[in-house]
Amino acid sequence: MTPETPETESLVLDSVERFLEAEVRPHARRLDHADEYPAAIVEKMKALGLFGCTIAPEHGGLGLATATYARIVERIAAVWMSLAGIVNSHLILAAAVSRAGTEAQKRRYLPRFATGELRGGVALTEPDAGTDLQAIRTVAVRDGDHYVVNGAKSWISNGGTGNVFALLVKTDPKAEPRHRGMSLFLAEKGPGFHVARKLDKLGYHGIDTCELVFEDYRVPADRLIGGVEGRGLQQILSGLELGRINVAARGVGLARAALEDAVAYSQVRRTFGKPICEHQAIQLKLGEMATRLEASRLLTESAALAFDRGERCDMEAGMAKYFATESAMENAAECLRIHGAYGYSREYDVERYYRDAPMLLIGEGTNEMQRIIIARQLVARHPA
Ligand SMILES: Cc1cc2nc3c(=O)[nH]c(=O)nc-3n(C[C@H](O)[C@H](O)[C@H](O)COP(=O)(O)OP(=O)(O)OC[C@H]3O[C@@H](n4cnc5c(N)ncnc54)[C@H](O)[C@@H]3O)c2cc1C
Repeated sequence: MTPETPETESLVLDSVERFLEAEVRPHARRLDHADEYPAAIVEKMKALGLFGCTIAPEHGGLGLATATYARIVERIAAVWMSLAGIVNSHLILAAAVSRAGTEAQKRRYLPRFATGELRGGVALTEPDAGTDLQAIRTVAVRDGDHYVVNGAKSWISNGGTGNVFALLVKTDPKAEPRHRGMSLFLAEKGPGFHVARKLDKLGYHGIDTCELVFEDYRVPADRLIGGVEGRGLQQILSGLELGRINVAARGVGLARAALEDAVAYSQVRRTFGKPICEHQAIQLKLGEMATRLEASRLLTESAALAFDRGERCDMEAGMAKYFATESAMENAAECLRIHGAYGYSREYDVERYYRDAPMLLIGEGTNEMQRIIIARQLVARHPA
């Protein structure tokens, strides 16, 4: 994708920042504590076009470069990370349709994804299969011009509020290698598609994360993404690079929020006759936090630029995701320490950063897996 001109990008970023300060910051703490879906904010995000950020203009989206999208996500996550999740899962779904969908699927879905009229996410994980996606057990069996789906999905973001999902299933459970029997469907809610329950989480509140159950759910055969069976895993994994860049950008936003709060607080809190920012122990923390933030941002930008150039960037996206999210976790913990007891109080945002950060280590592929992906790519790119 072509990068935006600096003028266009700053217009977009300015309007996002104004929206965040006016419409999100005043409500984030209350909504987080109540674990309440931010329905009114989502309506405003629709009006801003955020649900179509990376969807091509010919399909009604803003067609923003991934690098610009990452900067938007950083800003959102610095105010309330959960909002970035509401958009991200939806845009991974859109990316799967844009890259692998038939023309008819693109025409039918992308314009309504772009406006946010149809919103959703990706349904891959199951109670017994997360990292090892080829072990999923949800099955779709062809029946005339439909498939009949049975199985269960777990930890699905936007599961309750969304209306359509990229649903990963087995169409041939006996296939070897296993991924050749996996297919991806555009599954709209309807008879046989149940939201079993909303999960109760440590953090990442506001966004609904659900268990979904499929009982003889009938999905029309023309909702098979790309119109061919057996390509589901690769179709969804190619969209996950964008997802990893988004999670990295969320890490940058969270690491930044933690740093900014720590810098501000350390100048007003005094001990032993001076602001704590003048104690060397606190200065060491601030120095490390700021360096982690800058390195995370550069890695994320580099991955986003590679993605926009159409290059294979699983290693770059993996490095950005791994480093930026570990940085978010470390900055959140250091911010909490710098705030002393106030860091433990629900009257500050610090405790939220500390609860939100671990989710980033797990989602879109755990950080253990990111390091394995990086190592595999290193070896593949540098054969002996
Ligand atoms: C808040 C939240 C939202 C989520 N949203 C979605 C969503 O929208 N859609 C969706 O499909 N899923 C979603 N997930 C699920 C997420 O993608 C999975 O949790 C993740 O892929 C890890 O899978 P798992 O939890 O089953 O862990 P497991 O796969 O059981 O892994 C357990 C541990 O073993 C490690 N491990 C596993 N295999 C290996 C290996 N080969 N080598 C080294 N270490 C390994 C892992 O890194 C981890 O530390 C969400 C999860 C959370 C917490």
